[in-house]
Parts: sequence; C-alpha cells; structure tokens
Amino acid sequence: MSLPPLVEPAADLSVDEVRRYSRHLIIPDVGVAGQKRLKNAKVLCVGAGGLGSPALLYLAAAGVGTLGIVEFDTVDESNLQRQVIHGQSDIGRPKAESARDSVLEINPLINVVLHNEALSNDNVMEIFAQYDLIIDGTDNFATRYMVNDAAVLLGKPYVWGSIYRFDGQASVFWAEHGPCYRCLYPEPPPPGMVPSCAEGGVLGVLCASIGAIQVTEAIKLLTGVGETLLGRLMVYDALEMSYRKIKLRKDPNCAICGENPTVTGLIDYDDFCGAVSDEAQAAAIGSTITATELKEWQDSGKPIELIDVREPAEWEIVRVPGARLVPKGEILNGNALSGLPQDKQIVLYCKSGVRSAEALAAVKAAGFKDAVHVQGGVVSWVKTIDPSLPVY
Ligand SMILES: [Zn+2]
Repeated sequence: MSLPPLVEPAADLSVDEVRRYSRHLIIPDVGVAGQKRLKNAKVLCVGAGGLGSPALLYLAAAGVGTLGIVEFDTVDESNLQRQVIHGQSDIGRPKAESARDSVLEINPLINVVLHNEALSNDNVMEIFAQYDLIIDGTDNFATRYMVNDAAVLLGKPYVWGSIYRFDGQASVFWAEHGPCYRCLYPEPPPPGMVPSCAEGGVLGVLCASIGAIQVTEAIKLLTGVGETLLGRLMVYDALEMSYRKIKLRKDPNCAICGENPTVTGLIDYDDFCGAVSDEAQAAAIGSTITATELKEWQDSGKPIELIDVREPAEWEIVRVPGARLVPKGEILNGNALSGLPQDKQIVLYCKSGVRSAEALAAVKAAGFKDAVHVQGGVVSWVKTIDPSLPVY
C-alpha cells in the first residue's frame, strides 16, 4: 500500500550531509526532500541482535537522524555468527553500547538514544511514544505481542521480521491503515510448539536478508516512496531462494484492532504466551533437581536412567556423561514410552529446562510418577559441573 510520508523534512542538510548522502540525493524519488525526511526521522529498533544488527547499521548509514536502541542483553560469543554489529572485543559488553559504537563509527552525524533495559509493560508506551516508527527485531512471542499492542494503542506503524533456520518473514503492521500482527496471528503458538532460534538454530545470513527488507520498508514509510508491505506478508525461503508475497487483510474480529476489541490496554504477555505450558509447570513442581544433585546421584551409584530430550544436532555439540538421547517428540507422541525402564528413576534434561519439563509431564502421565527433570538443563551442567564443556 502506498502511504504519505511519515515524517516532515528537516529544515536543511549541511555540506557534510550533502557529500555523505549524495547517492541518495541523485535518486529522483528520494532527492533532497527525502533525505531531509530521513534526517528528521526518529526510528526505534527493538533488539540489537540478529535482525537489529543489519537494521541499525543500514538505518544509520542511510542518515536516519535519531536511532533508538532498546536492548538489555550483553554480547555473547554465540551471537557473533549473525549479529554483525558486534565484534570479538565486544563480548561481555552491553549490546546497546556495542551497537551504538558501531553505528556512530559508520555515521557520526546521527543521534543514538540508548534504552539499556528490557522492554516491558512499564516502559513500552513511554519509549514508543518518542519515535515515528518501530523496527521489531525481537525473537520471542511475548515481546512480539507487546510490541504490536503498544504500536496499535499508540497508532504507530512498525516493521516486523522473524527468522528461523532457512526461513524468514517480514511485514509492515499499522492498524490505522491496515492489519496488525494479531490480524495475522491472533494467538501465540502453544508453548513448546515453535522452537526458538536458540533451540532450532538460524542461518546467520538470514538476518541480513530479512533485516534488509525491514530497513527498505522503513525508508519507504519515512519518505513516502513506493508500495510498502502493509497488507502483505513476505515469506522468504533461503533453500529455494524464493520470495512469496501473501495478501493480508485486516481482521474485523481482531482482538485489538477489530470492530469490537477485547484488548484495550497492555496485558500480561508472559501469561498470554506461556513460555511453559500449564501441564509442564504442574509436572515440574516437586520433580525438579539441580545439576549438582544429578552429579551427586551419579557419584552415589543411584540407579537412574538419564535421558537427553534434545535434538541429535544438539547432542552432537555437548551432552551430560551417562545420558542417552530420546528427542522430546518421541516422548510426546508416545513412541519412546515403552522403552523407558520401570526399575530406575528417570531423569530428563534438555538445553535449558523448558523442553524437559514438557517431556516430564508426558512421562509422569504415562505412570513414571517419580521421574524428575534437571533445572537449567545441560547449560546448568556445564556452568556448575564441567566448565570445560562447550555451551551453545
Ligand atoms: Zn489487528
């Protein structure tokens, strides 16, 4: 959908700016007026991770005058495979500060505003209100729905993107002129159904493919050129190297932007998206041990059956000694239940303790009442028992 420019032009461009942005200025559709709009624009990037990295770098290079960064995390070695705004020497630093240093190195003529905090119901409205446009680079459903709802309540447009393994999606949501994220996805997936990138992986360069689409859409919205992705979903398949566009319609029954909205303010997004299902939470109560307790059980010679419920690719990276691999899906579909021993205590673990809790619910329901799972999974084992092992 083509829309009027989101931002009024700045009064002028300096001599430095004219030199720097000359390749934009000579595009007739952008021109001096378009570049002045970019200069006057305030864009917020939620997250300085996989999608935020290319988004921030190119928004800065393009001359977006004010760039906000919301990010509370610190740079980890496992980020560097795709989060190209950070470097080796940034490991351990706040991502927001590392990202700011990178974008100011690319373009010192812009203002960078840091929000070095987790986005929450307490701050999202106040932070979003300061910007013309939001870029959503979050990787979890709770924040994604919060971003959508805050944008709808404030009447702001935002550019959404998501990535997983070889697949990416992007769109523009703006309830005043078209659909919102809830029109496309009214409900979050059930807990445990959709693996995160931390569980399922992501091809690093996919961040650039989808992040580039998000920046392109942002520039079009700010300057009013071209047809935006509002009302269309872009679906990218890196293995096929195909881009498909799917038409999206505003849902008259949408919970927040429909004709009779039931969501009229921010809600409890952790509860709405439930990182762990109710069944898993109930199963884990009183049936959770720590990595230290597991080590003590092993050292004492207690008869236990230690089961790793992750996927084979994760098992190849690191595992707890003495375990055997039974992926969670085999437990949930019932196929693996008959192979579980009746005469040993079953101990389940995964990467972080979420999937093992899901598997625990199924194992206990099958009659293995004394089964337990390991809090924090193999990550906790590595941290507390054997730091020489790799984490991922
Ligand atoms: Zn909607």
